[in-house]
Amino acid sequence: MSVIDDVKQKLDIVQVVSEYVKLQKAGKNYKSACPFHSEKNPSFFVFPDRQSWHCFGACGTGGDIFSFIMKKEGIDFAQALRLLADKAGVTLVERASPRREEENRERELLFELNEAAAAYYHHLLLNASSAEAARNYVKGRGISIETIKDFQIGYAPEGWDTIKQYLNGKGYSEAELLNAGLLVERDDKNMYDRFRNRLMFPIRNIQGKVTGFGGRALDDSLPKYLNSPQTPVFDKSGSLYGIDRAKTAIRQKNQVVIVEGYMDVLVAHQYGNTNVVASMGTAMTDKQLTIIKGLTRNLILALDADAAGIDAVSRSGEMVDKMLPVPPSFYGWVKYEDAQNAEVKIMILPPGKDPDEVIIEEPGGWQKLTTDAKPMVDFIFESAVAKLNPESARDKSILVEKLLPLLNEMKDPIRQAHYLGRLSRLLKIEEHVLSDSLRKFKAIEKKRKGTRSVRSFASPSHNIVSSSPLEQYCLALLLQYPELKSECTELSPDYFENTENRELFEKWQQSNNFASFKDSLDSALQQYLDNLMARAFPSITDNESARRETIEDCVTRLQERRLRNLESQKQELLAIEAEIGGTGAELAKLEEGQEIPKQLKEIFIEQNRRHRQIKSEAE
Ligand SMILES: [Zn+2]
Repeated sequence: MSVIDDVKQKLDIVQVVSEYVKLQKAGKNYKSACPFHSEKNPSFFVFPDRQSWHCFGACGTGGDIFSFIMKKEGIDFAQALRLLADKAGVTLVERASPRREEENRERELLFELNEAAAAYYHHLLLNASSAEAARNYVKGRGISIETIKDFQIGYAPEGWDTIKQYLNGKGYSEAELLNAGLLVERDDKNMYDRFRNRLMFPIRNIQGKVTGFGGRALDDSLPKYLNSPQTPVFDKSGSLYGIDRAKTAIRQKNQVVIVEGYMDVLVAHQYGNTNVVASMGTAMTDKQLTIIKGLTRNLILALDADAAGIDAVSRSGEMVDKMLPVPPSFYGWVKYEDAQNAEVKIMILPPGKDPDEVIIEEPGGWQKLTTDAKPMVDFIFESAVAKLNPESARDKSILVEKLLPLLNEMKDPIRQAHYLGRLSRLLKIEEHVLSDSLRKFKAIEKKRKGTRSVRSFASPSHNIVSSSPLEQYCLALLLQYPELKSECTELSPDYFENTENRELFEKWQQSNNFASFKDSLDSALQQYLDNLMARAFPSITDNESARRETIEDCVTRLQERRLRNLESQKQELLAIEAEIGGTGAELAKLEEGQEIPKQLKEIFIEQNRRHRQIKSEAE
C-alpha cells in the first residue's frame, strides 16, 4: 500500500473538514455553507461513504481529502500530503535521489543569489547618485517610495561589471552568476552584467522567492524591456508579476485582474487594487493559468482598446476576418472557461490609456472598469455585432458562421441555450433557425472527428471494476505510451477523483520530458509513479491501434463515471432535502442541473454507436 493510501485510510474526511467548516448532518451525509465561495444556503456536501466532498453551488467542484486541504490551505499536493500524514501519524520516507538533491541545492543557490542581487539593485536605486534619473523616472510615473520598497524596485547602473563585482565580493562565482542570468558571456569567455542602466523589477514566484528580473531601459536602448533568460528557477511563461503580493487578495476577492505591465501592477497595488498581476507581456500560458487556478476561477483580462479590436475600422465588406474581434485565443478562453468551470471577463481600457494612467487619474475609475467587465462571450458577441451591419443579410450570415464555433465549444447546454437566445435577439434571427444551424455544424464537426481513427476490436473492459483501478489503468497506459497524449485532449484532470492521480495527470500534461516530469514530483508520488510504470499490458503491448482504442475507451469511461457520480450525489441530496423539508430554493437549484442527464445520454449514444461499429467490424 502506498503512503498516500495509508494516509487516506487513517483519516476521516468528515473529521478533517470539520476542523475548517461547521458541518451539519444531512441524512448520512453532511452539509455546510461552502468554504470556497460565499453563499447563504448550504451547497457544500461531504460524503463519508465515498470519503469525498462536493460543492453544488458556484464552485461546482469537489474531490477527496487531499484536494480539500490543497484548496483550503492554498498549498500543493506535496505540502498537503505532509500536513495530512502528520495528522494521520504516517511517516513519510523521503527517498534520497542524488540528482534531485543536487538540483534542489542549485535552485536554492539561485534564489539566494537573486535575492542578494535584488537587494543590491534596490539599495542603489534608493541611494546611488547615478540613480538620480531612475528615481525621477519612477516618481514621474507616480510610484510612491512605499511601493518601491514593497516591490523592491531597483536600479542597475551603466557599468559593465557592477553586479559582477558586488556578488563576486560576496563569494559567488562567475559561473553561478551566469547560471542565474545576471551575467552574459562574450565569445572570448569574458563576462559582463546583463542589466545595465535599467530600472529593475525583481520577479517573484508565488512563494515570494526571486526567480529572475525584468529590466526597463532608462535610455533608448533596445529592447525596452529585458528579462532574465530561462534558468532552472526562471521561466517567463510560467511567471506572473506581483503574484506573491496579490495571492491573498485574489483568494479573498475570488477574482484576479490580469494586466500587461510591471508599472500597472505597481500602481494598482499602490491604490489598493491588490488582486492585480501582470502576464509579463505575453499571452497567458497554461503554466500561468495553473498558478491562478489554485486561487480563483474568476479572471478579468484588462485589454486596451486596440488589442480588443474596437478601434474604428470602417465597415468595408472586405477583410471581414480582421474586422471581427475574435482572435483565436478568445476561442481558447471559451474552451478554458468550459473545461475549468471558470469565468473570464474582459475589461476595456479607455482608448490610448494604460491601466496605471487610468488608476492615477481617477482611482474610482478602475473599480468601475472592473465592475463593468463583460463576460468573454458577451464581449465577443457585442463587438462582433458592432463591427458588422446586423441589418445586412450577408453580414448576418458571416456573423453566424463566425460565432457558431464558439457556441459549439460550450459543453454546458444551459449556457449554450442562453447565448443562442442572445445571438437570436442581436441578429433578429429566429432561435430555431440558429439552433438548426448549430446542430448541422455539430454534425459536421462530429463527422470530421469520427473519421479520424479506425477502430479495431479490443476491449479492456473486463479489467475495469471500480473507480480507482480505472484511473490507475488509464494513467499507467498514458505514462507508458506517451504517444497516446494526442488521444486524450478531452480528458480533463477533473475526471480523476483521486488527487494523486489528478496530480500525476496534470503534471504529465504539462511536461514533455519524462525525466523532468518525474523530477518535478514529490517523492511519495515518485514511488507511486514507479508502481504505475511497472504495470504490464500484455494484450495490447504489440498493438498500437488497440492501445488507441483502449485509451479512448478509458477516457469515455472516466467521463461517464464522473457524470454518473455527480448525478447520483445529486439524487441522494434531493432525497435528503425532500425528507428533511429542505428549502424550495435549494431543491430548485439542484434540479436545475439538467445538463448531467443530457450529457450522460450523449455519452451513451456515442458508446452505442461505437459498439455497433466495433461489432460490425468484428463480424
Ligand atoms: Zn462552493
